[in-house]
Amino acid sequence: MEPLYDLRYEVVGHRRVTPVIVEVALRPRAAPLRYTAGQYVLLSDGEGHLPQRSYSIANAPRPDGLITLLVTRVAGGALTTWLHERLRPGDEVALEGPYGTFVPVTERPLLLLAGGSGLAPMRAIAEASFAERPKRPITLFFSARTARDVIDRRLFSEWQRGHEEFRYLLTLTREGGAPLRGRIPDLLEAAVGSTAEREVFIAGSEPFVADCLQAARRLGAEGAQVRTEPFFCDPQPWLTLPGDQPGS
Ligand SMILES: Cc1cc2nc3c(=O)[nH]c(=O)nc-3n(C[C@H](O)[C@H](O)[C@H](O)COP(=O)(O)OP(=O)(O)OC[C@H]3O[C@@H](n4cnc5c(N)ncnc54)[C@H](O)[C@@H]3O)c2cc1C
Repeated sequence: MEPLYDLRYEVVGHRRVTPVIVEVALRPRAAPLRYTAGQYVLLSDGEGHLPQRSYSIANAPRPDGLITLLVTRVAGGALTTWLHERLRPGDEVALEGPYGTFVPVTERPLLLLAGGSGLAPMRAIAEASFAERPKRPITLFFSARTARDVIDRRLFSEWQRGHEEFRYLLTLTREGGAPLRGRIPDLLEAAVGSTAEREVFIAGSEPFVADCLQAARRLGAEGAQVRTEPFFCDPQPWLTLPGDQPGS
């Protein structure tokens, strides 16, 4: 899908889901963006006052074009400070996209490893997979620091009850109170076993992605089976060379 520019969306939801993450719901003012679950958009204020930043779409495509984003506040961050403090329902934003190759390309079972707002593309990929390939096994492994940083625990528990092939693993790195405690790279072997026959997706902060990637490879996943989306620095999609896989 060719990216589209300056698509105007109205903020129809702005909800704090953890102390540092807000979920923003956006409704298209005109024709909606078409995308594949796992892709991201560039978002800006639409008036040229703020820089564009990349955000993964957190839901599978819907007929009404509504999209949700999970945005972590970054201390001193230009766009996230505005998005957390100023943006409210009824406001307008501008989107550009879709971008990215963080999308399933095989029929293998999915292993989704997410830290913080890295959950966004995983929620979209799992939701799309339920609709498109209901029999495909999915393991979603989510890591948060504390119980207050957990997103959508109830939703994923419901998905687990409603979809035989969906498995939800939750770990907390700084306290107990979840089924698992510790970092995903240290728990992966015991919780999941071999990664060799899976298509693996990893999203979150740069160190989280780097450590999970190493663990997934150690347990058998090969290069082409693993896709990563580190959230730290913004790519410039217009500089992507043919054959490059941005974010991978
Ligand atoms: C493909 C892609 C998808 C992304 N998807 C999401 C998403 O779904 N949700 C989400 O919250 N973010 C996502 N990001 C990160 C996002 O694009 C911004 O980089 C982030 O929101 C910070 O923007 P800002 O303008 O507030 O901060 P800036 O003004 O750019 O940065 C302020 C300061 O914080 C540092 N900084 C920037 N980003 C981070 C960070 N992530 N962690 C720690 N320090 C940082 C900078 O080096 C700088 O010193 C994604 C990034 C990429 C590349």
